[in-house]
Amino acid sequence: MSENHLQCRECKKEYESTFKYICDECFGPLDVKYDFTPVNKNTFTDREKTYWRYFELLPIQDKKNIVSIEAGLTPLVKAEKLGKKLGLNNLYIKNDSVNPTFSFKDRPAGVAISKAKEFGLKSVGCASTGNLASATAAHAAKADMPCYIFAPSDIETAKIAQALSYGAEYISVDGTYDEANRIAAQIGDRKGVGIVNINMRSYYVEGSKTLAYEVAEQLDWNVPNHLIVPTGSGAMLNAICKGFEELQTVSLLDDLSSMHMHCAQPHGCAPIVDAFDKNSDKVIPVERPETVAKSLAIGDPGDGRYVLKRLKQYNGIAKETNDKE
Ligand SMILES: [Zn+2]
Repeated sequence: MSENHLQCRECKKEYESTFKYICDECFGPLDVKYDFTPVNKNTFTDREKTYWRYFELLPIQDKKNIVSIEAGLTPLVKAEKLGKKLGLNNLYIKNDSVNPTFSFKDRPAGVAISKAKEFGLKSVGCASTGNLASATAAHAAKADMPCYIFAPSDIETAKIAQALSYGAEYISVDGTYDEANRIAAQIGDRKGVGIVNINMRSYYVEGSKTLAYEVAEQLDWNVPNHLIVPTGSGAMLNAICKGFEELQTVSLLDDLSSMHMHCAQPHGCAPIVDAFDKNSDKVIPVERPETVAKSLAIGDPGDGRYVLKRLKQYNGIAKETNDKE
């Protein structure tokens, strides 16, 4: 267990670790900061084959609060044929689709719900359909907590069928996704419901950073030269950078100066790429995202500005790809 607290990403004001996600002073997002207990490469060797093997680097204080559905430590697959075609000798693909509910969302949802349990919250939920709804509902079922999925009333129920099969309740909101988000936030704050991607967001993104830990460990604690991250809201890319930086803090990695961080977005919803191409630090929202990559169809990426900062910091670029590719 490592001590942790919250710190505003903008004005750096610090707060105790509590059920809170926005800075009182400047409304900036709060990040989890740690005083890490000493770890080394052997600390993790014989542990469970899930992302909870990195317990000392995660924000849960008491192991009994961990809600695990055995997600993580997914394969880092060497893409020989594609690498050859592209002239790359060491091309790897992190296959997070083999997680228990079939997406990387098992990482953030699991950490957020474990922390909600640690805070003593009685119920959880999310504003989403699709992957996040499934991951949240599966973890809530494991924790034996009621789970509420906030989504517009006109969605196809097939989209949340997986979540409902885990016992979640669908809160149908008359309006758009943005309105579903707003209502989830209001109810979450008023009733003390841990909405994983809203009021538990500071802890939620801590789950995403375990992608960095796993990739580093799978590369025998080496820093990859180039990372290409599919980007929707931008939270995952930012969290992966945080993960690598923390590995440097605990001396598991030496130097991140050779690492390049790149952002990939689908044509039809590439607001971060557009800002990058214009050398602007303002991300202009895409009103009607159109892409087959539904999980990346986030027209107004909440962490877009921070992604642009990360690309500068780690000498990366942003590129879009078409649906056929
Ligand atoms: Zn602040």
